[in-house]
Amino acid sequence: MFIGHYGVAFIVKKKASDIPLWLLFASVQILDIIAFTLVLLGIEKASYVPNINPFFRNLLDLPYSHSLSGALLISAIVFVIFWAINKKTWAWILGLCVLSHWVIDLIVHTPDLTIFFGISKVGLGLWHYPILTYIVEIAFVLIGWLLLKKNIYSYLLLILMIGAFTGMVFAEEPMIFREHNALRTSIVLIANLLFIFIAYLWDRKNKKYRTDSGYCDSGYEYTTP
Ligand SMILES: [Zn+2]
Repeated sequence: MFIGHYGVAFIVKKKASDIPLWLLFASVQILDIIAFTLVLLGIEKASYVPNINPFFRNLLDLPYSHSLSGALLISAIVFVIFWAINKKTWAWILGLCVLSHWVIDLIVHTPDLTIFFGISKVGLGLWHYPILTYIVEIAFVLIGWLLLKKNIYSYLLLILMIGAFTGMVFAEEPMIFREHNALRTSIVLIANLLFIFIAYLWDRKNKKYRTDSGYCDSGYEYTTP
């Protein structure tokens, strides 16, 4: 799944409003961020292959970032870090957010995810139905996004996410991306980091609004002071 993971972060934010949205974004997407980094380092692989189905234009070999064992390990590391800094509730929630990425990917991927570092391939294959996959991802994002208090950055984020994903699904990839895998991977990595940065601005703007209006709460939900 691509932008759908961020829908999970929006829904969790609604329930756990004291956790910054950018941190939830980073958690639900850390497996992909690690994957793109490992691809750029030549440790994992994601290369362009022509296909009429936009979800099958990646030949993937992600034995570390997208194995259940790797996901559990990264989730445990995130858990331990936040537990150690005495954010015990955050530790549970962020750890589960990390793991949610693999579980949701399991629904969409064809058997190219693995259970144990490259061994035992799994994937339920929703990607075989590209329009349905597109609708599910957009629905995830929209439902979650609608739950939260809006500001200029929330609209910017929604437009960029849906625009980029729609382009990915319905447009041909530019030749330069098809021919240069490293450039292609870098662009996707930068797009994800940009989403996390805009989520940070969204957080900051809402916090400032609450401070200016004299209302003291660390979450997004508020009553008019
Ligand atoms: Zn993934």
